Amino acid sequence: MRQGGADEELLAGTGTERDGLPAVGSGNCHADGGRAFGIADRTDDARNNGANLRIEAQQLFEDRAQALDDAVFDFEAALLGAESHGGRGNATSLLPSGYMTPGEGDRYSRQVLFGGIGAEGQEKIRQARVCVVGCGALGSFQAEALVRAGVGSLRIVDRDYVDFTNLQRQWLYSEADAQNEAPKAIAAARRLRELNSEVEIDPVVSDFTPSNAEELTDGYDLILDGTDNFETRYLINDACVKRCIPWVYGAAIGSYGLVMPVVPGKGPCLACVYPDPPAGAQPTCDVNGVLASTTGAVAALQVAAGLRLLVGWPDFVCRIHTLDVWEGTSKQVAAGTADSECRVCARRQFSYLEGQQKKPVSLCGRNAVQLHENARPLNLPELAERLRAVGEVRVNEFALRMTLPKYQLTLFPDGRAIVKGTTDVGVARGLYARLVGA
Ligand SMILES: [Zn+2]
Repeated sequence: MRQGGADEELLAGTGTERDGLPAVGSGNCHADGGRAFGIADRTDDARNNGANLRIEAQQLFEDRAQALDDAVFDFEAALLGAESHGGRGNATSLLPSGYMTPGEGDRYSRQVLFGGIGAEGQEKIRQARVCVVGCGALGSFQAEALVRAGVGSLRIVDRDYVDFTNLQRQWLYSEADAQNEAPKAIAAARRLRELNSEVEIDPVVSDFTPSNAEELTDGYDLILDGTDNFETRYLINDACVKRCIPWVYGAAIGSYGLVMPVVPGKGPCLACVYPDPPAGAQPTCDVNGVLASTTGAVAALQVAAGLRLLVGWPDFVCRIHTLDVWEGTSKQVAAGTADSECRVCARRQFSYLEGQQKKPVSLCGRNAVQLHENARPLNLPELAERLRAVGEVRVNEFALRMTLPKYQLTLFPDGRAIVKGTTDVGVARGLYARLVGA
């Protein structure tokens, strides 16, 4: 039974379109063959000449098949940039049954075919040095996409270890990595080398801090933000503005994401648009959840913006791109021009880079780290409500204590914290960032 309405129109339209085109697509062959055989079936007068008609129909069918073969060859030749059809003798190998068997030299062909990149852009990408700061959900996607795109050199900076809660959205990592609690930078590098041995991979298992931010970004053409906290983003902004390195800010929580490229000297920096980090505790993926679609979409936009910067972006306009993958909405807002009063890009006060906040202290002999740097008041009763979904929480007017399988986190109203169960400052800061926000 035939379908009516729009479906019927769609089907009819498709048929008409195909009939109007040269023989591309097997549907056309069948359609013509079918018409020819239909004439033979219906024509009583020609019954005696049926054999001749069948021969004609067969000839028509073969002509159409040859036209299809030619069209497929032309299409493939165009894709491969072939200058002539000199290889026509091998055309049958281009049909689906013996589809192309390109060599390593063709690895980037589909990217080179894209007008925005081309051979010249690909060469720039090949020479580029990119640093991904944070290799969680955003950073692992960015790293894989950049390595597949053929950047020359990729540095990955991450302080964390793989755990099972990462696997839902963090690319590159396996169950074995989570089982072994492998450092993310090391596990990522191992997988990335399997994906593209041409790329130089430099994993750095470390916190990104005021003391190493400049050293870690020195000599890099682009920085991608794969972090999960404001503190590190402002630090990246300081380092990149100071050294005039483009970077792409990305954030994801729940189904909501945001992307903003920063090109020092050509548009606003992070501090122009958001002069200060939001006050108090912030929603985090560990407490509020996040979809892999959100992090994937944000990271993909960051990589696209990054590649565009690497191949040259003379008409750069800074736009803040927000999206909601659950609602299926997105919008772009022009971020305007740089703020002439910006403390970072105008007054060049790099307070995050200079580490003006108090530094974290490892409490010797107590298997604990005290964090001073998050000098932002916390509403402990409110925070306790949020954290109860994640672990055991006790709270009074002086402190909030949260007990996790491996750590105990004690928070104070002034934002100070003590993390028991580690002497590693990076682990303590990571825990704070994931549970409280930073
Ligand atoms: Zn600025």
